[in-house]
Amino acid sequence: MKIGTTHLFVPGPTTVPEVVRRAMNVPMEDHRAPDLPDVVLDVLGDLKRVFRLREGRVLLYPGSGSGAWEAAITNCLSRGDRVLMSRYGHFSHLWVDMARRLGLDVVCHDVEWGEGVPVEAYERALRDDPSIKAVFVTHNETATGVTSDVRAVRRAMDAAGSDALLFVDGVSSIASLEFRQDDWGVDVAVAGSQKGFMLPAGLAILGVSEKALAAAERSTTERCYFAFADMIAANDVGYFPYTPPMPLLHGLRASLDRLLDEGMDEVAARHHRLGEGVRQGVKAWGLDLCALSPRWYSDTVTAVRVPAGVDGAQVCRIAYHRYRTSFGGGLGQVAGRVFRIGHLGDVNEVSCLTALAAAEMALLDAGASLEAGSGVAAAQAYFRQALAAEEAAT
Ligand code: PLP
Repeated sequence: MKIGTTHLFVPGPTTVPEVVRRAMNVPMEDHRAPDLPDVVLDVLGDLKRVFRLREGRVLLYPGSGSGAWEAAITNCLSRGDRVLMSRYGHFSHLWVDMARRLGLDVVCHDVEWGEGVPVEAYERALRDDPSIKAVFVTHNETATGVTSDVRAVRRAMDAAGSDALLFVDGVSSIASLEFRQDDWGVDVAVAGSQKGFMLPAGLAILGVSEKALAAAERSTTERCYFAFADMIAANDVGYFPYTPPMPLLHGLRASLDRLLDEGMDEVAARHHRLGEGVRQGVKAWGLDLCALSPRWYSDTVTAVRVPAGVDGAQVCRIAYHRYRTSFGGGLGQVAGRVFRIGHLGDVNEVSCLTALAAAEMALLDAGASLEAGSGVAAAQAYFRQALAAEEAAT
């Protein structure tokens, strides 16, 4: 018999807080009820606060992050459009693959996994080729634990005199890391419900600038289910063009309350503190991160390189079966060579210590040589000092 909690430290889906779970536990209701707009318009308005989007719109589709990728491309671009993309992990790789399958002319920069978006190469490419219609960035590459500098990409685009659209995958960053859609000049930002929003998978969420909305009117790509125009027409009166997942909308209301009560700056600061604590733990084990330099470190997911002779997949299997703790395995190029600790969403210092404790046991059992307790002790020391400093400063 299994007693006690099963611990979820994959970088999405993340733990759903009790208050959000309860909010979703509602009897089925009429999705054309006269008072539905009260819920829908409120949620859409508050989502803009999370994306930090004043102009433009946030659109919500039943779907997942991949659906949001597709909605972004099919609405704002046309078959044959030249776009600038880069691959530095499994998810950026998949977005390139989708763009090609949807008929875009992709100029792709391949970057070593462990690094992020190649800003200088992007600037050169944009100067050389003014026909580029869109620039893509995976803000947080969940497969490698790498965060890229979206602001720097916007600067590079401006310096090159490009008027391309900026598309950003924020699936594992929005609602956890700092994200400022307006200030960073992001035209289309995509997210999913199952990471920073602390909900089950099921909602594809897009922040769309006025410029991207205008591009959507010119695009000649066939689209139907994801058509912005249909969604906007229905949203304008507080409804959806088809049946929305009502429990998820109620859950989203509760999750937005949590995020906005904490404050988006504070949410980002908490993730930074937790990410740093986990990194201190990994350092104490003597292991390396997949991220190749501190400028790429992600505060939502840490991908740990396992020592030679240890199989990352085996670490995850042991953690799951023996210690009832889920970690993310290595994906694509880094399969078996890393395992990933997700520290985003409804997490705090003690939950991160739990993750480190379970990871230590699984690593030891899988044959790694490290000192039991060393990672936990290093993270404890960091958290104690960081929280005391924060208290002293307030
Ligand atoms: N983009 C990133 C950065 C992701 O981490 C993921 C999933 O983990 C996706 C896109 C795809 O999202 P989904 O699995 O919700 O379709």
